[in-house]
Amino acid sequence: MTAQIIDGKTIAQQVRAEWKERADALKARGITPGLAVIIVGEDPASKVYVANKVKACAELGLHSEHVVMSADTPEATLLAKIAELNADPKIHGVLVQLPVPKHIDSSKVLEAISPDKDVDGFHPLNVGALTTGNMRFAPCTPYGAMKLLEKSGVSIEGKHAVVIGRSNIVGKPMALMLLQQNATVTICTSRTVDLAKFTRDADILVVATGKPKMITGDMIKPGAAVIDVGINRMADGKLCGDVDFDSAKEVAGWITPVPGGVGPMTITMLVANTVQAAERTASGK
Ligand code: NDP
Repeated sequence: MTAQIIDGKTIAQQVRAEWKERADALKARGITPGLAVIIVGEDPASKVYVANKVKACAELGLHSEHVVMSADTPEATLLAKIAELNADPKIHGVLVQLPVPKHIDSSKVLEAISPDKDVDGFHPLNVGALTTGNMRFAPCTPYGAMKLLEKSGVSIEGKHAVVIGRSNIVGKPMALMLLQQNATVTICTSRTVDLAKFTRDADILVVATGKPKMITGDMIKPGAAVIDVGINRMADGKLCGDVDFDSAKEVAGWITPVPGGVGPMTITMLVANTVQAAERTASGK
């Protein structure tokens, strides 16, 4: 079997077009959705992510503010900036690019963002909402992975979904979203004994470990949908996922490539969350 390749770039474009229509409808009512992205420090990868987020907003005609703070910014100064943006009516989404420098408590930062503007979905209230099945803001990467499954026609209900990784930004919310869609969900971690036993039973396999090519074709159930969240930079400068694409695509039914799979969806869903936040403000919800 050769898997159907899930083309994240094309699907991201489709999804962006859908959200652009919603953004345009708001603009016609005099409301331009606005996103503020705060970056603290000079981390090169973070700078690229932030630049891409700002660019995506511009493409959809959204208002965006890019707040750059030096690496030695006191925690109180960052919290004051967040409070200012929380109160700014032009801004519907606020995010602080992680990681923040070590002297800043990232939990305090995430809790300082208004839950109504928490477009990353990391505030404990929004995490709780996701857990209780009343999702308000879905964390962008797993939200994007769910969209890829939906747009590819992969059915979820009643399927066995195995998520490898339990981070707060990918693994855990991914598992909760699959559960919400009535999958039977297993979460595997670095402590899982006999990982292949679980992966071989997965109808849907989501891999988010940061371990290059750790899932090989022989670990995959024939016909499974394989979502590779990993982004790893190899010694030759090329990117690869946590799944060994070449062997996996011979067994899987669907598979996401890296790059060009989950990656393009993350920022798309951030824009979607920002538009949704503005819609809620507009409707007073
Ligand atoms: P974390 O490092 O926070 O979490 C990795 C998880 O993988 C942990 O739960 C860890 O288990 C588990 N793990 C590690 N090794 C193994 C193993 N050998 N077997 C089973 N489980 C294992 O990573 P993130 O969730 O933040 O990111 C995961 C990957 O996704 C990275 O490559 C990252 O770059 C990528 N990513 C991509 C995004 C995108 O936009 N496409 C966005 C965010 C992340 P334990 O908890 O036991 O340590």
